Amino acid sequence: MKNACYCVTEHRAPLQRIIQDTPELTGDQVLLRVTASGVCHSDLHFWEGRYDIGDGQDMSLSDRGVTLPLTMGHEIAGEVVALGPDASGIDIGAPYLVYPWLGCGDCAVCDRDEENLCPNQARSLGIFTPGGYAEYVVVPRAKYCLPLGDLDPARAAPLACSGVTTYSALGKFRDAIRTDPVVIMGAGGLGHMALRMVRALSGKGAVFVDLDPAKRQAVLDAGALAAIDGAAPDAADQIRAATGGGARLVLDLVGAESTITLGLAAGLKGVRVVVVGMFGGQIKLPTVYFPMRAMTLEGSYVGNLKELRALLDLVRSGALDIAPVTRRPLHDANAALMDLRDGKVVGRVVLTPDPA
Ligand SMILES: [Zn+2]
Ligand SMILES: [Zn+2]
Repeated sequence: MKNACYCVTEHRAPLQRIIQDTPELTGDQVLLRVTASGVCHSDLHFWEGRYDIGDGQDMSLSDRGVTLPLTMGHEIAGEVVALGPDASGIDIGAPYLVYPWLGCGDCAVCDRDEENLCPNQARSLGIFTPGGYAEYVVVPRAKYCLPLGDLDPARAAPLACSGVTTYSALGKFRDAIRTDPVVIMGAGGLGHMALRMVRALSGKGAVFVDLDPAKRQAVLDAGALAAIDGAAPDAADQIRAATGGGARLVLDLVGAESTITLGLAAGLKGVRVVVVGMFGGQIKLPTVYFPMRAMTLEGSYVGNLKELRALLDLVRSGALDIAPVTRRPLHDANAALMDLRDGKVVGRVVLTPDPA
């Protein structure tokens, strides 16, 4: 079958349309016709080929194993069109959401469905292996296809990235989320997702910190307990006041020196800071703070297969509503990416099949 893909053939150059043959399926591979593929902010990093890791230094994505040409797109929903000889439990024609954060598939970590933490080879779809900016995608194993039922594929696709990332990060607070408000650094798209999820998980509520007054107002309108200007000289005091004495739970969706430092400054003993954002930069901390403040500074990287399954259940239960998205045809892939780069996108953009 011919497969039109929109590929990065050179970093920072327009995506190129390349026609490939879909491969002969082996093992329990699954071939999906892509019905939705989210255009994610992190795709801009893969397109640019670099991450800022602070002190004026970059980390090159080729050092991380990203090779060109690359078909991006890790937020994928699709309909099954063909199965490998060993694939089972999957229905031809049925809609599925794809778990994209794949590891080697062959070690103890991958076996317990924590492929996002695989110590061996990362094979994440749309980053290290071909993803969803295409008509068809090969999923290496049937277990990475999660049934969508009657959920809208376009609205569900971002659950595989922003959704599971937020779900996994909030999960690190466990039951404390019901008794303590979460201080959330960053009131952008991920912040709104986190706010809805705190509510869906019967959380106490969310206190936001953001530099942008419009974003602060938007989360207040959406039901945040408070929204604080992180640049205010008394920002830490304001966080203490809004949390009833100090932060115990901090979700940092920015990941800058300033946000991590502020979260710790406003934290009580026993504060847990979970960092998801990759703004870049470096932090310097007195090591004695760890025991003296009984503090935890923890990173969270996307989420695992079990978490994505649980998140889909939460959506199906009706507790968590998924945000509307803007749909654009696949052939607009490059334009959609450039609009995201230029800050012209509100909410999520999802590529859907070109009209026949
Ligand atoms: Zn993403
Ligand atoms: Zn592995």
